Amino acid sequence: MKNIRNYGIETQCVHAGLKETKEGAVVTPIYQTSTFKFQDADHGARLFKGEEEGYIYTRMRNPTVEAMEDAVAILEGGAKALGCATGMAAVHTLFAATLKSGDHVICSESCYGATATLLANVMPNFGISTTFVDTSNLDDVKNAIQPNTKMIYAETPGNPTLIISDLKALSNIAKSIGAKFAVDNTFMSPVLQRPFELGADYIIHSMTKYLNGHADVVAGIIILKNEEEYPHFRKILNHLGGTIDPFNSFLVHRGLKTLKLRVLQQQENAKKVAEYLNNHPKVEWVRYPGLTSHPQYDIAQNQMKGPGSMIAFELKGGIEAGKVLMNNIEIFGLAVSLGGVESLIQHPASMTHAGMSAEARKQAKITDGLVRISVGIENVNDLINALDKALALI
Ligand SMILES: *Cc1c(COP(=O)(O)O)cnc(C)c1O
Repeated sequence: MKNIRNYGIETQCVHAGLKETKEGAVVTPIYQTSTFKFQDADHGARLFKGEEEGYIYTRMRNPTVEAMEDAVAILEGGAKALGCATGMAAVHTLFAATLKSGDHVICSESCYGATATLLANVMPNFGISTTFVDTSNLDDVKNAIQPNTKMIYAETPGNPTLIISDLKALSNIAKSIGAKFAVDNTFMSPVLQRPFELGADYIIHSMTKYLNGHADVVAGIIILKNEEEYPHFRKILNHLGGTIDPFNSFLVHRGLKTLKLRVLQQQENAKKVAEYLNNHPKVEWVRYPGLTSHPQYDIAQNQMKGPGSMIAFELKGGIEAGKVLMNNIEIFGLAVSLGGVESLIQHPASMTHAGMSAEARKQAKITDGLVRISVGIENVNDLINALDKALALI
């Protein structure tokens, strides 16, 4: 569709990226092929030399993948996008394409666990160091700057604390020192947060979450603001090999059509669930960007179009109370991940972080009663009743 960038996000969700076919297919078909035939030897030579546009091999380029990449680039208001096998493949490819030995990164301390592990334990093997700071505190960010700081990497709202960092302010700090600014926009999606409009150079997503939205795919993506960087990123991704496959691209592209409907309905439900939890006597506190009690409520109001559908809360009664809730809750699935149409619930102290010592959990601000929920599109009264029944047993 011509001028798709000028249309509203609802129209972009439905139409962006479609590859017109001679058969007139309304959605881009799944090109489930590993490789593409050349017309003759010279044609193959021209494609490899880059003298002619065309498809060679699916790791390098595939029409179904490209359609989905175009759609996400348009939705985020970026120039180009690179589909990756997982969110972590996107994070790694971003670092590999932008950093070199001797460089330093400043990263949000409240970020996805595997991102933190990659930066803390793997990247040092390649000469890249990282300082983790509370990126909601700009003085801490400034104090972490080194002469070799080449990237500020922010996840906001951060996982699992939902701490919010001021993207515009971080982008200004990055600019002032000539560093790049990357944002993990997974928790918000382009429906609720527009990092390029706030100064980001790169956006990454775990498309496993809201973009696909149906909990049936793992996938990631890097979106570039600057088209000139695309050939370099494409080369790095092709050589690292973490590309997405055509079938998963098709599923994500299908999920994108309902992105706005899903995200807004999940958010409507989450607002009510957060309100309910906030008034519950067995809940110590609720962390949700839509509640005035959120420490960065004002920043949330300014830079986000809505509070989203992730809620963290602290149960009175610690680990045992958490277990009672987990073992008795209906509808909510006991599972990690988030952003799908189904509601999920997670108690780090008895589940994902049970292997950590109590001391280490405390250090990581994972309190014993901390519960994280991803609110889905079910009937909100059913969700509240499910919480009510399980909380009554504590
Ligand atoms: C899930 C997630 C990732 C990693 O994505 P995968 O698809 O699991 O590899 C990165 N960042 C955030 C914020 C996530 O929630």
